Amino acid sequence: MENVWKKYTKADEEKITSLTEEYKKFLNLGKTERECCEEIIKKAEAKGFKKLDDYLLKNIPLKTGDKIYVNNMNKAIALFIIGKDKITNGMNILGAHIDSPRLDLKATPLYEESELAYFDTHYYGGIKKYQWVALPLALHGVIVKKDGTKVTVKIGEEPTEPVLGITDLLPHLASEQMKKEASKVIEGEDLDVLIGSKPLTITKDKDKNLVKENILHILQEKYAITEADFLSAELEIVPAGGARDFGLDKSMIMAYGQDDRVCAFTSLEAFLNSKVSSKTLSCILVDKEEIGSVGATGMYSQFYKNTITEICILMQETLPNATNRVLQNSKMLSSDVNSAYDPLYASVSDKRSASYLNKGLVFCKYTGSRGKSGSNDANCEYLALLRKIMDDNDVSFQISELGKIDAGGGGTIAYILANENVEVVDCGIGILNMHAPWEISAKADIYEVYKGYIAFLENA
Ligand code: MN
Ligand code: MN
Repeated sequence: MENVWKKYTKADEEKITSLTEEYKKFLNLGKTERECCEEIIKKAEAKGFKKLDDYLLKNIPLKTGDKIYVNNMNKAIALFIIGKDKITNGMNILGAHIDSPRLDLKATPLYEESELAYFDTHYYGGIKKYQWVALPLALHGVIVKKDGTKVTVKIGEEPTEPVLGITDLLPHLASEQMKKEASKVIEGEDLDVLIGSKPLTITKDKDKNLVKENILHILQEKYAITEADFLSAELEIVPAGGARDFGLDKSMIMAYGQDDRVCAFTSLEAFLNSKVSSKTLSCILVDKEEIGSVGATGMYSQFYKNTITEICILMQETLPNATNRVLQNSKMLSSDVNSAYDPLYASVSDKRSASYLNKGLVFCKYTGSRGKSGSNDANCEYLALLRKIMDDNDVSFQISELGKIDAGGGGTIAYILANENVEVVDCGIGILNMHAPWEISAKADIYEVYKGYIAFLENA
């Protein structure tokens, strides 16, 4: 496996720059699953995609070349380009997830202690809690009032806006803290975000927590919300600031949420730039992967299957098992990030089965830990087809496992589609710092995976 930079022409390098500049914009606009979903819809509509509902409500039949999407609760989305063949001959599907580890505000988050105001949080996904202290944080999300009005919140991204944060103990007084194991250095209940220190001065009410009252006053002025409105809110604390080039050679990108928006972005771009094909093409971007793909907006939801059934109806596919036939004849690249080999942590990887930065698209035949537990183990016949497609289209790829056999493991959405009898393999790119507030990807891998997705959609 060669470093892919060695094969690039000037034209390739220009394409890498334009693709990754667009990627950084996507990351900055979509720091939550809702923001991502909104951005995906904007991109799709700009390319002529229409809501499936527009067809369903008027019972308009679907035909070759129609481009449609379904927005599931503003947190997951499925897109389709109707092909020339019968849809029951199967689709070529790209899938990824758009949720990322973060801190969610609790339902009653606001409190005051010793004249400091805080937001209480509950972390989402697998984080190393000690990584989330002493760094600038931003607040993103929505608050829905009892009358249904939705207030969108985004604070901490513009240079003129304040940032928030979680305090850490000074080293001078940390002798006891430093003896604790890393999972206990900062505990879940201590991930409380400092948000204010100034009392409300327009009242002299001594019984009240005036710093908290002042925060409520600010929120009332800015968003017209009361404390009770936090009961129906989804507010997420994420690292403040945008995606940046990384390395003196600018060969990498450091950003929040690259797991798995790097695969979501590249899947979407490849899909939106695809021509109408013989097969129907689909792109499914889902929520809740980081907590096990559960819930209405996760991959376990009936949403995708229901959507396929509705498409079958609009294509006059009337067999009762039409949806199952679509799925069992479909091929899928289920994309998620892989742990790229890190020389500083060499002991957790088997060097010959690891993925590496700058070596292109990563196929992961199976994930899972120990005896491949819980894994989708892709069929070798399918891998043979994918090898040919990648080689024929000059896409650099590597096959890897996620770490040493007994070192741990991780899940993806692949096995859920595999349960529907879809021919599916895990793929994606390797990144460093996975699940840290700031993750690192390599630009050349983003380009290779994008080319790989196009080759798959056109040839699988
Ligand atoms: Mn992931
Ligand atoms: Mn993850």
